[in-house]
Parts: sequence; structure tokens; C-alpha cells
Amino acid sequence: MSLTWNLDKMYTSFEDEKFLTELQNCINLAEGMTATVKTILDSDKTEIEIIEAYLKEAEKTREVFEPVLLFSHLSFSTDTANTKALSNLQKVQSLTASLVTSKVIFEKWLCQRKDLTTLINASDSLKKYEFYLNEMVKNAKYSLDEKVETVISQMRQTGSMAWDTLQKKTSSGITEEVTIDGKTETMPLQAIRNLAFEKNAEKRRIGYDAEMMAYKKHEEASAAALNGIKGESLTLCKLRGYESPLEKTLITSLMNKETLDTMLDAMRDSLPKFRSYYKRKAELLGHKNGLPFYDVFAPLGDSDITYPYEKGKKLVLDQFATYSTELHDFAKDAFDNDWIDVEPKKGKRGGAFCAPVLSLKESRILLNYTGKLNNAITLAHELGHGFHNYNLFNEATLNIGSPMPLAETASIFCETIVKKAALKEADSRSKVSILEVAIQGYSQVIVDIYSRFLFESKLFERRKEGSLSPEEIKTLMIEAQKESYGDGLDPDVLHPYMWMNKVHYYIPDMDFYNFPYAFGLLFAKGLYAKYKTMGEEFVPKLNTLLSSTGKMTVADVAKQLDVDVTDKAFWAASLNEIGEEIDEFIALSQKI
Ligand SMILES: [Zn+2]
Repeated sequence: MSLTWNLDKMYTSFEDEKFLTELQNCINLAEGMTATVKTILDSDKTEIEIIEAYLKEAEKTREVFEPVLLFSHLSFSTDTANTKALSNLQKVQSLTASLVTSKVIFEKWLCQRKDLTTLINASDSLKKYEFYLNEMVKNAKYSLDEKVETVISQMRQTGSMAWDTLQKKTSSGITEEVTIDGKTETMPLQAIRNLAFEKNAEKRRIGYDAEMMAYKKHEEASAAALNGIKGESLTLCKLRGYESPLEKTLITSLMNKETLDTMLDAMRDSLPKFRSYYKRKAELLGHKNGLPFYDVFAPLGDSDITYPYEKGKKLVLDQFATYSTELHDFAKDAFDNDWIDVEPKKGKRGGAFCAPVLSLKESRILLNYTGKLNNAITLAHELGHGFHNYNLFNEATLNIGSPMPLAETASIFCETIVKKAALKEADSRSKVSILEVAIQGYSQVIVDIYSRFLFESKLFERRKEGSLSPEEIKTLMIEAQKESYGDGLDPDVLHPYMWMNKVHYYIPDMDFYNFPYAFGLLFAKGLYAKYKTMGEEFVPKLNTLLSSTGKMTVADVAKQLDVDVTDKAFWAASLNEIGEEIDEFIALSQKI
């Protein structure tokens, strides 16, 4: 067993013959795809045969591209100085962009079939792609003709994608002078932000002040990027005939407006409960006017529970086993076969993720494990993503996937299993800190996410009239935070620059990358409650649910476990679960 993931089963290096051959296959496919699709359409095949032939090409494209793209991406993730990885990654990404034309040509042809349902029902190989084909037709009305689409995908490279690059480069280069204990040093922004987690109150406040100063200096560039990216979204939505960027996001998320509104409504109802948590935390830290933003992430209690990797692994395996042997065995396989890159190292990216390796029916997981309880929870989270992949791998190639709101189902579910166990094991002193860390996380996903949703909605409304100045953007942010956090936070010490801090606002062609997080958390919590009442009967049903996320709408996926996502009571029940933890925290905190 190693602490580094093994990619050899994919390719041994970028010079590997297999890699070079498969990269060449990608180039050939990208160059020939438009001609191939045109030839299929012009042939004397029947309509059914034409659709079958296109789907085969689409499957092949995914199967050929994914390993090459993934190997480049994974190699780059553990070594961002690896220029070979980066150049291969960029090469394959731009090849992928050139596949747009052939897709649009086929979509337009497909839309002209008057009896698609009859065609689908007459062929077994089409039946498995019924949802995929119908979605294609549904979405085709929003795509423009192939020439315009090609121009858009090229112009985007110098439009939103260039703005995104500018934002990334600017923010990763930000530094600021910080004076701690009489010593002044220049610190990178990330290190400054980490001061928010310091035990020492003075350091947290110094960190916050430095962060504000640093953002102030770069606000013009970020505002220009934000105006550019959101402006492009509005232009494209209008051209394509979407009512709004939100409508587009919901359509691509396979989720309806009623579901979103119901969930948001339940979230709004729960805000007073979250505010009571912030107010209690403020009291504990000696504040009278609500919690100032610089203390949102302040650690409480003095417990330092450590979870070295071996201990974390054992916790996860033991707890997974209480759920199902299959989940336990899956995780054991991941450990035994070196799917996980465990420790932080120079040049390795931060955070954590899990990527499916379609060609091997395996996953690879990146962690930055430093021995904290949170790392063990993240391990469970990422293995949860892996377990979702494991359930998807037996599906047809084009049905392997999941819309944003369902992407976090298995991960948060697995995280919950382990979190509950850690809480049970802890003594009452550690319990307060474990609970507080958990609630801190939930509050980000509910209260902060709600403020981000409000902010982005207003931003789009105002952006329609023209660009916004940094001052105007900051005002929108503060208004959104006040509406969401209410009297939980000190209204005089909020975070006017949260729009510079969150990368989600700058992802090209992806808007409202906020509510899916709340959906993921509350949906998984709701499923966990079902598991508690249903017991073992739940286990195979969750597997089926996870295997279906790429071939149904969000509502239909949920229905398989009798969940009605338009029923406010479902969302309220998940929020109540968190509410109970807040009550428990407040009660226990009287003793610290
Ligand atoms: Zn996740």
C-alpha cells in the first residue's frame, strides 16, 4: 500500500506508446467527427440505424477522450509544475471544444424526426438512451446553427475563459503585508485567509483586515472579469432563447423551478435557527452585536483530536461496514489498490476530489491529508463519490454521469455515516468542537449559499443594464449577507469581497453554482433519515438510485426512494436534523 496513487494502469508516462497512440486517436476523431456525422446522415441507412450509428460514435468519442484527458488532469493535479501534463491537458481540452459542430449537426437532424418515440421503441439499443435522446431534442431548441455555435465556442476562449484566467492569475498572485507580534511579513492571500482558523483572536482580526486591504487593491480587475463573464452569460442566454441564466441552469441541472423554490422556501424558514447558532458563538467569543465575519471560522473548545491516516482509514472502514459490506469492500479495494494520493506535497493542488476512471471502472482520489478529524471526514466524502461512480459503471457509456444537484448525494451520505460515529465516540468536551465544526460547515452550505444565490440573482438583474462598479458589487454582496445572516452576524463587520473569493462566480458557462450545494446536503441528509427508518432494505435502493443519476430528472431519481422534492416537508425535515444539532451545541456550550 502506498500513499501515492497509481496511474500506471492508465499509462506509465506521457511518452508511453499507449498514451501517444490514444492521443493520436483523439486528434483523428476530433478532426474527422464532423465528416463522420455528415456521412452517417447522408447514407442510405434507416433512421433507426442513423441514430444507432451516431450513438456509437458518441460513445467511442467519450471512451477515447476520457483516459487521455484524465491522465493529463491527474498528473497535473499532483504536480502543477509539470509542463508536459499542462500542455497535454490544454491540447485535449481544445480538441474537445472542436466536437461541438458535429453534435449540433446531429441534434438538428434529430429534432426533425416527427416520431422519435416510435423509433426509440423499435430498437433495444435506442431504448437505453431514451432519456439521453429526448434531452438532446429538448435542448436543441436552445442551440444555434452550427456555424454560430462554432464561432461562439471559439470566441469564448478569448471571452469568458480569458476573464476566468485573468481572475485566477490575479487572485493567486495576491500578497499583503501582515504584522503579527511586531513582525511584518508579506504573506500570500491563502495564508492570510487561513488566519481565520487561528485560535488567537487577534491573529484572526489581523488576517481579516489584511484580506480586505488586499482585495481592495485588486477589485477593479475582478469586477471587470465578473462583468465580462456574467455579461457573456446574459448575451448567450438571450441568443439561445432562455428566459434567464437561472432558467438555463435549472434546465441543465435537470431540475424544475418548483423544486428550487420549495427548497429555498424551507431554507428561509430555517434561517432563525442558524442565526441562533451564530449568536451563541458570538457570545462565547465575547461579542455583543452578533458574530463579526472574522470570527465565523474561529475554533471553539480546546480539543485537538488527531486522526493520522491509518486511524482515519480504520474509522472509515469500520463505519462503512456498519452500513453495508459492499461499501466497506469498495473502500478496502480503493486502499489496497492505491487509488488515493494522500499527503500534501510541493506543487500538488489543494483541496480534495474524486475522479472516475471509466476505462478501468475505478476511481482516483486526491486528498491533502494532514491528520485532522476533518481529513478523515473528507476521506469518507471522496470515497462516497467513488461509490457513486462504482454504481454508475455498469450503465451504458452515455448514461454515466449526474446533474449538479445530485453529484454530492453519495459523498455527503458517506460523510454523515462517519461524522455520526465520530460524534458518538467523542467525550463531551471534544463533542462541542466536533459539533461546532459540523454546524460551521452546514451554515456555509445553507446560510452563505443562500446569500450567494441572492447576490447572483441581483447581479444578473443589474448587469442587464450595464457593467457594475466594484462599489456597486460590494453593496449587492453586503445586502445579500444582511438578508441571509440577519442578526446572526455583526452587520458592521461582514465580507463585501466574497464575490472575489469564490471561484464559482467565474466559471465560464456555469451560473448559480451555489444552490446545488444546498440541494446536495439536504437531499443526502433526507436520505440518511430514510436509511435510519428503513434499515437494511434501504441499502440496495440507494445503489439503484445512484446508478440512475445519468438517465433521469432529479425529481424522478428522488422518487425511487419515495422522496418528493417538491414537498417542503422533505427539505424541512433535513433542516430540522441540523437544527437539532444546533440545539445540542447550544446546550453543550453552556459547559465550556
Ligand atoms: Zn464532493
